[in-house]
Amino acid sequence: MLTVFCSPSRYTQGSNATLSLGKEMATLGLAGPALIVAGKTAIAVLSDAWRLSLEEAGFAYQVCRFGGECSLSEIERVKREAHDLGARVIIGAGGGKVLDTARAAAADLDLPVVNCPTVASSDAPCSALSVIYTDGGAFLQYRIYGKNPDLVLVDTQVIAQSPPRLLVAGMGDALATWFEAKTCVEGNIRNMRGGGSSQSALALAELCYRILLRDGVDALAALQNQSPTPALERLVEANTLLSGLGFESSGLAAAHAVHNGLTAVPQTHAYFHGEKVAYGVLVQLILEKKGQPLLEEVLDFATRVGLPTTLAALGLADMTDEMLDQIAVRSTAPGETIHNEPFPVQPQMVAGAIRAADALGREWQRKRRGLQPR
Ligand SMILES: [Zn+2]
Repeated sequence: MLTVFCSPSRYTQGSNATLSLGKEMATLGLAGPALIVAGKTAIAVLSDAWRLSLEEAGFAYQVCRFGGECSLSEIERVKREAHDLGARVIIGAGGGKVLDTARAAAADLDLPVVNCPTVASSDAPCSALSVIYTDGGAFLQYRIYGKNPDLVLVDTQVIAQSPPRLLVAGMGDALATWFEAKTCVEGNIRNMRGGGSSQSALALAELCYRILLRDGVDALAALQNQSPTPALERLVEANTLLSGLGFESSGLAAAHAVHNGLTAVPQTHAYFHGEKVAYGVLVQLILEKKGQPLLEEVLDFATRVGLPTTLAALGLADMTDEMLDQIAVRSTAPGETIHNEPFPVQPQMVAGAIRAADALGREWQRKRRGLQPR
């Protein structure tokens, strides 16, 4: 098996980076017209910077407002707009689903793609894949492309103004990277690009975990002042770049499969990808029979930043056995990354681990409340 490592062609991050968007695109040899697929907030926050930056660099562009779901029908709609404009590059600006949609449309049209995440809520921006959902929000499929984005540009001044819960969700997604990467590497599993994992990818995944533990709480505090700090810069890099490179070039395992399982019940649809993934991390560590010190390290981190550690925190306080069964069956569907675990995984094992994670999380919360001064 050949070792394969992949990444975006260029990653640019910093306060007010949007003002350099046109220059960065020109450096890569990209040309307009550009179709900007953007969410409502991105349009409100970034329109002025786009005008300054893109016009200065000579890019004609048009903004296409995102419909809300990365679904097959939304991808087709964006493709029609790009086609009508004669777009030569697609820019996605917004959350993970906007970027996934921009990537899917660009890949279908064989156009370069630029990703400008306005939140650090997942590791999607750097990847060469989209997660496609139904129009109703249930997980449908992964779509994998030949190449990663041409440019990922992260404006940390914008991230500093984003909702704290989204940054925390990004930490949940990033929390899984090191554990899933290790499982894949130890099992000699092919990574998302069909190759073997490199030491580089594994090292980045580990660095990602270390930055979360060290900077997670401080980075969150920076959002209160809506101003980037060194801790926020490091954390955004961990959530976006390190987690993205780590998962793609090493692989996914149980945590993301459990996330996909959780989307099978509508009660979890109000929760973010990373929030469900964080719960999936606990489930994975239990399935892998990891020791108490590691579980406590993860529980402590999750609690301090506000990631869910119980079913109630994912809208599943009243989960029935039928719902649990549905989640467990979906988590272990053929082709799911849970089968990258080094042992056969049956639905009933996952169901047991989902209940066990909840018991552990509730016990942790109870102890923690007991420890707090009255
Ligand atoms: Zn993820």
